[in-house]
Amino acid sequence: MKKQAAAAGKRILCAFCTSVAFFLASVALASAQPRWYRGNTHTHTINTDGDSAPDAVVRWYKEHGYHFVVLTDHTYRDRGVLTPVEGLNAVFALPGQFLVLSGVEVTDNFEGQPVHMNGIGVREVVLPRGGASIAEVLARNAAAIRKAGGVAQVNHPNYLWALTAEQLAGGDSAQHFELWNGHPGVHNLGGGGRPSTEEIWDAVLSTGRVLYGMATDDSHHFKPECAPQVVCPGRAWIVVRASELTREALLTALERGDFYASTGAELKSYAVDASGIRIELPEGDRRNPTRYRTYFIGKDGAVLKQDDSLTPAYTFTGGELYVRARIEASNGAVAWTQPVFVKDGKK
Ligand SMILES: [Zn+2]
Ligand SMILES: [Zn+2]
Repeated sequence: MKKQAAAAGKRILCAFCTSVAFFLASVALASAQPRWYRGNTHTHTINTDGDSAPDAVVRWYKEHGYHFVVLTDHTYRDRGVLTPVEGLNAVFALPGQFLVLSGVEVTDNFEGQPVHMNGIGVREVVLPRGGASIAEVLARNAAAIRKAGGVAQVNHPNYLWALTAEQLAGGDSAQHFELWNGHPGVHNLGGGGRPSTEEIWDAVLSTGRVLYGMATDDSHHFKPECAPQVVCPGRAWIVVRASELTREALLTALERGDFYASTGAELKSYAVDASGIRIELPEGDRRNPTRYRTYFIGKDGAVLKQDDSLTPAYTFTGGELYVRARIEASNGAVAWTQPVFVKDGKK
């Protein structure tokens, strides 16, 4: 087109060509523009200890504003199945709108302590591998999940008070862990001298190890009405920024930490560059607006800045090691962004 315009030798045509080229580039950019996809990476069905068939579970998530759900039934040392998702996707999947991913909860233990790890998007069943220590159990199961094509996520570290920051900081363990699990029996907030999962997170990050925080339902009960002790869906999720709604794009985004975790708080936008972090938050109902307090948190859990605006921002100073944001909404919901590791003022 440029060649034709040059041949015509008319300025107006060249200008037109430039506009067209710019327009086409914009269209190309727009179609490649990543989008945010909401999903839950921890769900059980009747194939293990859930109360509902896979299709009922999937339908619940599709009808409640999720873009994807990962079915993660338990596998044990002596048995386990991978709940097939092809038939479910044939019925429920819609391009760009909804997708079911296969998964497992590798249900291992060490000397009676639970060591549970989800394999998100695995292509085949993964049975627990065991090991001579909790660190070895974590490492062996994470390796088996990766070998099966999945992303490994350590589950509910405070369930039976089983896992510590030292164990999670081991270099061979999973790179994702449940910062928030919606099951009422997993002690996310710690207490009695035991750290919360968020304190465990900062302890691991402060060693320099990259660990991403997930929020999940661990849903088991879809039949009874939701109540505090019912392990129902809809309590916690992640929102992933991916190029498209496919297994590959979602797993790639998870692996690079391009997502946030939430118990209900939503981000309008999230941007990181070499100078800092910028967030936009939705005001909601103008007459009864949601208000926020955002904490930017660094090494050892130190609060680096508090920002009460709808556009919280943080400028790197260098030497923080990492910076992450915890956004508290006035309705009690929380969102957590992933740690950005900072070196000499640059991300
Ligand atoms: Zn579990
Ligand atoms: Zn579970």
